[in-house]
Amino acid sequence: MASLSLQHIGKVYPNGYVGVKDFNLEIADKEFIIFVGPSGCGKSTTLRMIAGLEEITSGTLEIDGKVMNDVEPKDRDIAMVFQNYALYPHMTVRENMGFALKLRKVPQDQINKAVEDAARILDLDQLLDRKPSALSGGQRQRVAMGRAIVRNPKVFLMDEPLSNLDAKLRVQMRAEISKLHDRLGATIIYVTHDQTEAMTLGTRIVVMKDGVMQQVDTPTKLYSEPCNLFVAGFIGSPQMNFIDATVIERGSDIVLTFGHNAITVTADKARALRSGGYVGKAVTLGVRPEDVLEVGAPAEGKRLSEPISATVSVYELLGSSVMLYTDADGASISASAEAATTARTGSVVSLVFDLDKLHLFDKQTELAVCH
Ligand code: ADP
Repeated sequence: MASLSLQHIGKVYPNGYVGVKDFNLEIADKEFIIFVGPSGCGKSTTLRMIAGLEEITSGTLEIDGKVMNDVEPKDRDIAMVFQNYALYPHMTVRENMGFALKLRKVPQDQINKAVEDAARILDLDQLLDRKPSALSGGQRQRVAMGRAIVRNPKVFLMDEPLSNLDAKLRVQMRAEISKLHDRLGATIIYVTHDQTEAMTLGTRIVVMKDGVMQQVDTPTKLYSEPCNLFVAGFIGSPQMNFIDATVIERGSDIVLTFGHNAITVTADKARALRSGGYVGKAVTLGVRPEDVLEVGAPAEGKRLSEPISATVSVYELLGSSVMLYTDADGASISASAEAATTARTGSVVSLVFDLDKLHLFDKQTELAVCH
């Protein structure tokens, strides 16, 4: 398979629009890399530049150490799977999957073997003689994957391949793609705007915004140590709470105040805030709903903040848990509570934060100060 190196890659469209700015990434063999970000952030542009479908304006793209900038798409040894998988309707599954090899004049017995091997991996063996019209959406998507697999490419590029499927099928196919990655041992670059898809599939995730890479990290690291406010808000569902707070020194403690509420931060965060010169200044306090607890909820081993009084504005039963959307003296705080909570819309609740799960961000730069 293959490693890729993207060095200072940029894209300026003919109309002057800057689609991608200074994109740098080293991708190791067998990695499953996700490009994620809101619509228009430059994910597809980057993928299409790797595929050779879009000219690279600046920078260098290498695959296995060879510069690829001016190499024709067909000579890059890359297979691409799109959301519009566009199978040929008059061909059977077998013919669809073998078509690229037939164009390359590969002998028929080799085509058969490649198609049958791919069909086995994808559980399509029983469907090889059907036409696409006789397949379900998920099966068609698998044929599209099969078409890419038979080519045995160095790199698979996938652009929102599941976005045309319904929610249930998407979850199912997500698991299948994950298995496929294990089985093929392939290098995959996968574009999605869906952070759940990104978190479940990727070995590393690239978060993009406005053509600029924001952070590259493992799913766990992105979740626990987002580098800025954008990443913190984009990754994780339900979204992280953001609270405007002021940093105050109280004796040897550092306290964050918002409205009438005050919470004393842990020593390591106090140190970071002091050394960063944040005392007396406003910061953004970030805390995920699952790190906001009702007083009395199980919290073994957790260091908790002082209680905050909040009024529940919306109660949402999610089955195994409950989301409480609350107002705490002007600050909106959502909390993931136990299903057994007695809180309901209009209740006044006492909330505590898990002090080791607080994120603090600079108000001007929006960069993380500490986690
Ligand atoms: P994403 O895949 O993240 O949704 P794209 O990479 O498709 O975003 O597009 C990035 C930006 O470049 C968008 O703002 C889009 O409108 C713009 N763009 C895409 N193609 C062209 C083009 N051919 N000419 C001008 N701008 C384009």
